[in-house]
Amino acid sequence: MTLEDHAEELASDLGVDKAEVKADLENLVSYSVPMDEAKQSLRRKYGDGSDSSGGGAPPSKHLADVTTDDGSVSVTAVVLTVGKRSIRYQGEDQVILEGELADETGKLSYTSWEQFDISPGDTVHIGNANVREWDGNPELNLGESTSVEQAEEALDVAHDIGGDTRLAALEPGDRGINVEVQVLESESKTIDGRDGETDILSGVFGDESTRLPFTDWDPHPDLSEGASVRIEDTFIREFRGVPSVNVSEFSTVTPLDRTVDVSDSAQQLSIREAVDAGGLFDVELVGNIIALRDGSGLIERCPQCGRVVQNGQCRTHGEVDGEDDLRTKAILDDGTGTVTVVLDEELTEEVYGGDIEDAKAHAREEMDKEAVADTIAERIVGHEYTVRGSLSVDEYGANLEASEFAESDEDPATRARELLQEVRA
Ligand SMILES: [Zn+2]
Repeated sequence: MTLEDHAEELASDLGVDKAEVKADLENLVSYSVPMDEAKQSLRRKYGDGSDSSGGGAPPSKHLADVTTDDGSVSVTAVVLTVGKRSIRYQGEDQVILEGELADETGKLSYTSWEQFDISPGDTVHIGNANVREWDGNPELNLGESTSVEQAEEALDVAHDIGGDTRLAALEPGDRGINVEVQVLESESKTIDGRDGETDILSGVFGDESTRLPFTDWDPHPDLSEGASVRIEDTFIREFRGVPSVNVSEFSTVTPLDRTVDVSDSAQQLSIREAVDAGGLFDVELVGNIIALRDGSGLIERCPQCGRVVQNGQCRTHGEVDGEDDLRTKAILDDGTGTVTVVLDEELTEEVYGGDIEDAKAHAREEMDKEAVADTIAERIVGHEYTVRGSLSVDEYGANLEASEFAESDEDPATRARELLQEVRA
């Protein structure tokens, strides 16, 4: 066995990060510690209770006191959510449990590599859980050496139990989530998955609060367009910059005998609130267009990847024969922040007042491709617009892919007063 293999075995046994174990092993071996002894020592360090030479039980802690410096801890907590998921670990499929725990002091995420019999609402004693860092926060890892027992007395915690959540409150990373939604769009797709070609469903869910995209990795026939359903045990991931609901083989889908109302309008937020939310599938913003960005008007796209071509060059495909397209990238400002609004061909045609053939004729006449962008700028810069669409936020900034773009008929003075009140509130 190579050191890599030993590290992998240890990491799996202890339920800790392999890179960390490997670094420790390399260090010990570099001091000429024999491999067996080095492994024993790491088992003690990471608190594997099966090793009789380990020193004493891990400390009992309140959740708020658990830090990433703790090796392992014991806690008493209420199980808030239990999500089941299949992951591929070291080439094998493994079913894990994950969710959140809470006590009187706070809450923590957990991942369990063993199928402990736990349900939301249970108060449990968890003995010898490893503490791992996840996304900058401590997380409990329950493995072979962890014990889980039902507590005799229930803890009273100030958190919702069970994972029932409205779509608007979901964030990437949420697990063990239950939703009641109407299926607004549902489409079967074949993808190249980890086991070759697989059929999945993808579409859009809606409820009273908002709309979100979903993917069903194990197609449930009840997720058909127009159906109102309760789905238990979903997890949330980021997809193209917005939260997406993931339905799996472990999710249960139950048709509801009521129709879930879906709001026709999008959430209305200030730009600052929307950007702080980090990505929203369906949002409405109101502000002034203050400028157009480069890459607006008549543009060329790579016929292979669709990216914008500059001087006949695609970043990925080199010299290509670009295809003409119309697009607008405009900066929207409401006094609390700015976003780049992206209008597709159809919406750009509306604000430009002509189609792509008109645009090409216009550019030829003026002997300037920028003439199209200049006309768009003259029409929209300095005016107030209500924009609905999908907002994504990344290191390059905030982009709103518009589905609706309408000049605002609200009196700008009223709007300014409202905004001032919001900012002062
Ligand atoms: Zn390309």
